[in-house]
Amino acid sequence: MRILVSGASIAGPVLAYWLNRYGFDVTVVERTAAPRKTGGGHAVDLFRPAMQIVERMGVVDEIRAKATGTDALVIRRPSGKTVTLDLRKLFTAVSDSHVEIMRDDLSEILYNTTSSDVTYLFDDSIATIGDDGEVTFEHSPPQRFDVIVGADGLHSNVRRLVFGPESGFTTWLGAYLAIFSVPNYLELNGVMEMTVDVGRVAGIYSAAHMDDARAGFFLRTPQPLEYHSRDTEQQKELLRSHFHDMAWEVPRLLAELDHTPSFYFDSITQLQLDTWSRGRVTLVGDAAYCPGPAVGGSTSMAVVGSYILASELAAHAGDYSAAFAAYEHEIGDYVHRSRSFARTAAKTLVPARRFDVWAMVNAIRLINALPAPVSRAAAKLNTKGVRLHDSIPVKDYAAFDRMRE
Ligand SMILES: Cc1cc2nc3c(=O)[nH]c(=O)nc-3n(C[C@H](O)[C@H](O)[C@H](O)COP(=O)(O)OP(=O)(O)OC[C@H]3O[C@@H](n4cnc5c(N)ncnc54)[C@H](O)[C@@H]3O)c2cc1C
Repeated sequence: MRILVSGASIAGPVLAYWLNRYGFDVTVVERTAAPRKTGGGHAVDLFRPAMQIVERMGVVDEIRAKATGTDALVIRRPSGKTVTLDLRKLFTAVSDSHVEIMRDDLSEILYNTTSSDVTYLFDDSIATIGDDGEVTFEHSPPQRFDVIVGADGLHSNVRRLVFGPESGFTTWLGAYLAIFSVPNYLELNGVMEMTVDVGRVAGIYSAAHMDDARAGFFLRTPQPLEYHSRDTEQQKELLRSHFHDMAWEVPRLLAELDHTPSFYFDSITQLQLDTWSRGRVTLVGDAAYCPGPAVGGSTSMAVVGSYILASELAAHAGDYSAAFAAYEHEIGDYVHRSRSFARTAAKTLVPARRFDVWAMVNAIRLINALPAPVSRAAAKLNTKGVRLHDSIPVKDYAAFDRMRE
């Protein structure tokens, strides 16, 4: 059975790995000219269920070796006073097994573990998908596939081709984010620093294995902003006008906008498709159920969703209609809970009122003050919230795994 996957970041290579392991013939098409390079992108999280899956893939040691090593977050209030959050304590409370890693490092590890068994088509994109599985590409000759999967992110090409424009399925969560590369001029090592005010958050972090640093900006606006998604100069101008009077390192970080080699700006938007399969096409990862970039731990969901999709296709011996229904059933609860988690996280991350800044600082003080076993026990009571990911049971598909026989 021939399966085409669009996108080679996180969901794409995990899906390709498991499909190949179950005996399917897999091609991955990726728009960028080459695999993602080490050191770029932003930090992402893998929580327990995703860690169990990458462990079964045999890449958990490589992933741990590339962890960012960020273990403290210094938050600066409008008064200039700071409070430091012990991130190790926080993550030990929210997950039994957690790694933070740069997305491009993770993507590179996942690509390397699949590249000899899977056909990768770089610098290409799907142009059309026929009902009979005939796929045309922007550059490569047409081919026929039994199943086509969109693993091509929040602004998925496959979703647009099959389900229509994204505006029909998205809800804006009231905020925007920007991330861009800057020199590590503060010589940060294991520490993320940020300044918080009503409606505005700006920060900088570096990571082990990274020569430079990332500046991150979050902003809340009463109404959606008017800008073009490909006009980076306009987006940079929006950032400058929102943050021009913020103190601390913000003027220096804004000055770096003139030279940065990489710049990302997007709305914090939640996808709300009721179903993400149609005919022989389905979606996985951010393309299907992004709860909002940077607010929902969606990398873990991309790993778990990819594993479930591949396993259900194996369990149903390639009967894709039955497999897609089972996949959506298995991942549905995780998707719905992550949406409500992300809505709360978006509100908490960018304070809307002075009271929210105060509440954030006091929550940090509480986490720091509680002995680790107590904060861990308290977090365990809150499975729908902070322990969302760890509370997801992943079905056992070992019976279909020939490598386990
Ligand atoms: C600024 C920021 C901060 C984040 N922070 C966190 C965090 O702290 N923790 C966390 O867990 N998650 C975080 N995320 C979310 C995380 O990056 C995603 O959930 C994760 O990368 C999803 O993986 P994916 O493979 O589904 O999609 P993506 O990583 O978006 O990958 C999509 C892939 O598809 C490719 N593609 C796009 N269009 C086409 C096309 N037409 N044809 C072929 N290929 C195409 C892209 O080039 C890319 O390689 C953050 C996201 C952002 C933007």
